[in-house]
Amino acid sequence: MGFRKNIRRVTPYVPGEQPQEKVIKLNTNENPYPPSKKVQETLAGLNPAKLRLYPDPAATKLVTALADYYGVSQEEVFAGVGSDDVLAMCFLTFFNGEKPVLFPDVTYSFYKVWVELFKIPFSCQPVDENFKIVKTDYFTPNGGIIIPNPNAPTGIFESLTVIEEIVAGNPDSVVIIDEAYIDFGGESALPLIKKYPNLLVVQTYSKSRSLAGLRVGYALGNKELIKALNDVKYSYNSYTMNEYAIELGTAVLKDEAYFKESTGQIMETREWAKEALEEKGFTCLDSRANFIFAKHERVPAKEIFEKLKEKGIYVRFWNDERIKDYLRITVGMRVEMEKLLAEIEGILA
Ligand SMILES: *Cc1c(COP(=O)(O)O)cnc(C)c1O
Repeated sequence: MGFRKNIRRVTPYVPGEQPQEKVIKLNTNENPYPPSKKVQETLAGLNPAKLRLYPDPAATKLVTALADYYGVSQEEVFAGVGSDDVLAMCFLTFFNGEKPVLFPDVTYSFYKVWVELFKIPFSCQPVDENFKIVKTDYFTPNGGIIIPNPNAPTGIFESLTVIEEIVAGNPDSVVIIDEAYIDFGGESALPLIKKYPNLLVVQTYSKSRSLAGLRVGYALGNKELIKALNDVKYSYNSYTMNEYAIELGTAVLKDEAYFKESTGQIMETREWAKEALEEKGFTCLDSRANFIFAKHERVPAKEIFEKLKEKGIYVRFWNDERIKDYLRITVGMRVEMEKLLAEIEGILA
């Protein structure tokens, strides 16, 4: 029985539900469109016999393709099993100081799980009443900073000017900008990595590239940071990127036209749905992501969330003090959003 005292107890991250029956799924910010045809074509050409071998531990093909795509060198790219894996590796690698790591209080809930898992001191810096980060909160002594831009679950984009000030003002800390949603109308901090050796930009294929199921994420930054990340990765698991992730992850970068078209379509649907929700009494934050953060003037978010679920429409709701009035609604296809609005109309009636 004594073994129990040695078991690590953690409060895990709670992902959005993945129901097995068919529903309208607007709860985990997946992309409603299929991945590029290049992925399908490449998949058809893959030979399962190759799975006998270990994959390239450096995922050279994928890393090179990402480096070419973003106009950086291979030494400035780190690939991982979705950005969750990349971010967890970053927390392990860069947040080893005694001072607290800083991140907003309303943000991606995984950050708090990792600081607790890795026993990293931290401080949540409250966003203001408009859910904007307060710049000056990031000029206090710290052991590192992580900010998603656009932020989750609000969708609010912070200007690069502010991001740069934070990076420039913290030369003794690694500053990570989590850009999971950057392709839906934001402006990436990537050009700043040449200027600031303490800046790391993290992105993912899960949202804008319709490949949440493939599990590919990556970090872009100064080669010293990338080397440190690789050293930690090789101290933990050498073969993170499997053969399919390497091949399909390389192929998807070769279809810029589809990428632009599908992300453009999502942004268009987002603006249309936002207006339609506002006509029904919702207030929506200004989102630069593939979701809308919305609160109704009269009906509690929890009630709408539960009633939508009964109708087979899944959205996200958190019973947290600061955001319990809001629903986070992933932008799906136009027809899905029309069904959502029709059900909402019934609920509000
Ligand atoms: C979705 C998301 C991630 C993780 O995505 P992966 O599927 O692991 O790449 C990371 N950060 C934020 C803010 C996200 O919303």
